[in-house]
This record gives sequence, structure tokens and C-alpha cells, in this order.
Amino acid sequence: ALVINGVDKTFGATDRPAVLQDVSLQLARGEFLAVVGPSGCGKTTLLRIIQGLETATSGTVELPSTTGAAPRLSYVFQRSSLLPWFSVRKNVAFGISLKAGRDVHGSKVARDRAVDELLELTGLSPYADYLPNQISGGMQQRVNVARALAVRPDVLLLDEPFSALDALTRERLQVDICAILENLGTTAVLVTHDIREAVFMADRVAIMSAHPGTVRQIVEIDEPRPRTVAFQHSPELAE
Ligand code: ATP
Repeated sequence: ALVINGVDKTFGATDRPAVLQDVSLQLARGEFLAVVGPSGCGKTTLLRIIQGLETATSGTVELPSTTGAAPRLSYVFQRSSLLPWFSVRKNVAFGISLKAGRDVHGSKVARDRAVDELLELTGLSPYADYLPNQISGGMQQRVNVARALAVRPDVLLLDEPFSALDALTRERLQVDICAILENLGTTAVLVTHDIREAVFMADRVAIMSAHPGTVRQIVEIDEPRPRTVAFQHSPELAE
């Protein structure tokens, strides 16, 4: 679903140190890849290059689409990007009210059904009519995930989506996102500085080092995800 081939990135003059050097990664459809590395190793830059928000200095990114139309990418990042005056439902529906969503789901009835299904999958149905500031940070992040998935992306990009959350909320959301991605067969890339999170959630973990940011090792993890809970908690404590 995604092929990154020999990507280099230098910001500004070419005599500046490279931020990314010779990064190559491949994702099969439905696969979940985590990219871990220290702060500043270029993880966000890599995601921005995948999205086309930055151009690689050299190398290529190929994004074959699953639908024959233009490839669809969705993005969830650390900070909430919800529309504060829209309800939870409207925030999720917003993503598919645009052209890409209409192309995916067709009729208004199909779009409404897709929104209902995502609210259900993400556990948001009881909060559908709340405004973003009336729900917790963890719930807000669920809305961001639901909205990102509403267009049925070819690839979902997750940039430190849990780092603003407390430990219990984070783990609950990690578990649920694994289940949702599995359920929908979504291809995903997670960037994080948290190796435990990467191993917990992903099928493969690419380990980057900094200065210049480059992939040192790719670890295949052969167990169903999520895996190896380091601590137990009761579900009612979360969120
Ligand atoms: P973090 O985990 O802290 O978010 P990161 O691994 O995501 O870090 P990036 O944000 O991609 O790293 O940044 C990598 C390097 O590129 C940093 O040294 C940063 O200062 C530099 N950088 C990022 N964007 C730009 C830009 N637009 N212009 C110049 N330098 C940039």
C-alpha cells in the first residue's frame, strides 16, 4: 500500500546536515508499521513527505490506491484538531461531507450509516451530541480517529497520537485502535518515541536513529496485536 524508497531530506541549503538519509520502508495492505526513534530524528518530517506536505530532496514515495481513485491519506496527531462548535457526530461526518467522502460512500444515507458505524466502533455513540470541550482528551482523540477513518483511507498516519494522554487512557485507546484497524483492514503508520507502544501495537517496528535520521533496523513481531500488557487495569478506570 505504501513504498518509500531511499528518501533523503535536507531543509534549506544543501550544505546543511540531512534530516533524513536513505529511508526505505514498505507497507503491505492492512499492515501496521510503527516508526520509533529519538526526538528530532525526522519522524514527523517523514510523515509530511508521505503526505506531500514536504518534498523529499531525493528518493520516492509511492502510494498505490486501493480504489483506483487518488490515494487517500488520513492523519491523526498529538493535538486535537476538532471543530469546537461542531458536535462529535458532526466532526466525524465533516470528513466525509467533502468530495473524497462522497466518492467513497456515495449517497447521504450511506454516509450517515458510515458515521454511525464509526461512532459505534470507537465507543463514541453515547457522546454523539456532545461538543469536543465536553468530553475528555481521550474521547477527543477517538473522535479524531473516527473522523480520519471516515474516508476509508488507503493509509492512516498516526503522529504521536497518545502522547498528551494519561497512562490508563492511552493504553485503552491503543488497544481499541488496534481492534478498529484490524476490523477495517486499515493500513497504518504510527510514529512514536515510545518503543513499548510500538511493540504493543504494530506488526513491524522500524527503529530510527538521529543525525541524520535513518532506519537502523526493522523488527517483525509475530504475535497478534496488541500484545504484552505491562500492567493491568480495570476498564472502568479508563477515561
Ligand atoms: P519529535 O519526536 O520531537 O517530534 P521528530 O522525530 O518528529 O521529532 P522532526 O520534527 O521531523 O523530528 O524534525 C527533524 C529535524 O528536522 C529537527 O532537527 C527539526 O528541527 C528539523 N526540521 C523540521 N522541519 C523543519 C523545517 N521546516 N525547516 C527546517 N528544519 C526543520
